[in-house]
Amino acid sequence: MTSVLITGGAGFIGYHLQKQLQNTHLVNAIDLIESPTSAIALRKVGLNQLKHADIKLNFLDKLSESPEVVVHLAAETGIAGSLIHPTKYFETNVAGTFNVLEQCRLNGIKNIIYASSSSVYAPNLSQMVEDADTSLQLSYYGTTKKMSEIMIENYCKQFGLTAIGLRFFTVYGSFTRPDMAAYKFMQAIDAGNKINLYNNGEVFRDFTHVSDVVKSIELVIAKIISEPKGSHQIFNIGYGQPISIREYAECIAKQLKKPLHIESKPLPENELLSTHSNTQKLDKYIHYKPICNLEDGIAEMTNWFKTNTYE
Ligand code: NAD
Repeated sequence: MTSVLITGGAGFIGYHLQKQLQNTHLVNAIDLIESPTSAIALRKVGLNQLKHADIKLNFLDKLSESPEVVVHLAAETGIAGSLIHPTKYFETNVAGTFNVLEQCRLNGIKNIIYASSSSVYAPNLSQMVEDADTSLQLSYYGTTKKMSEIMIENYCKQFGLTAIGLRFFTVYGSFTRPDMAAYKFMQAIDAGNKINLYNNGEVFRDFTHVSDVVKSIELVIAKIISEPKGSHQIFNIGYGQPISIREYAECIAKQLKKPLHIESKPLPENELLSTHSNTQKLDKYIHYKPICNLEDGIAEMTNWFKTNTYE
């Protein structure tokens, strides 16, 4: 059994990843769970391997032995927050990731899989291929993710770390983050309130169900062990079919059997107009690409929402 340490294990994707791996891998997970939000409190249920630790400090002393693979998901997440609290984003996503790399280097951990984001891409209305322009990002969040990619590239070349970066495209599903459109839309639509749609809903996202993300990570864990020392590869993980935010909201309303009331707001300057994943490279690598369509994915998420709401 491969031993895996997940950082950000109480987060949305970290929760699902623990569930995905817990019977087939030796899983440990850490998270900053000292002041739990209701989302973290709900996800913590049944996750016995989850420990409190900060990625900015020495977190490996919480474990009895070093893992073979670190899956680094811990981050300050969300684009809007990075405009208000850039320092927090720098400290967690850049300095925190640096400390994860140092902990790996100092303790002989050879393999790291880490979360990057579609936000690293420069505005691009066509398909985003991994080698497309990432020389500028609209959001500081995206820049912190790009800075992580650059630091990790160097650690691979200089210190022989083996790394795989995964650029996730708008992930949704049960236990979603409360700050994400998915949760805000479900809450407002269910309560009969209107929702704010940027650009009258004509903003396109490549919505990717969390089950496909964690399945892909599981397959990448199996591959990284045999990759050459010092290699660094980056893959998109996205469904590959951008949907307008309006259609996304309509699908949620349909599943909740509630009417949709919308108000249009201007698109913030730090948000991309469109994201579209080209996922061929991932498919070639693990022989898997996201398969969950929007209707099935929203059904899974809204069924969860009907019996689980955050305070
Ligand atoms: P999340 O906010 O639910 O999870 C992140 C977790 O990291 C949280 O539980 C938080 O408590 C933890 N954390 C923050 N600072 C920490 C620290 N100093 N030490 C330990 N833990 C800390 O986010 P998510 O949606 O599960 O995202 C997981 C990863 O995927 C993140 O790196 C995010 O940037 C990336 N990502 C997510 C999406 C998406 O649509 N959800 C898209 C692109 C990239």
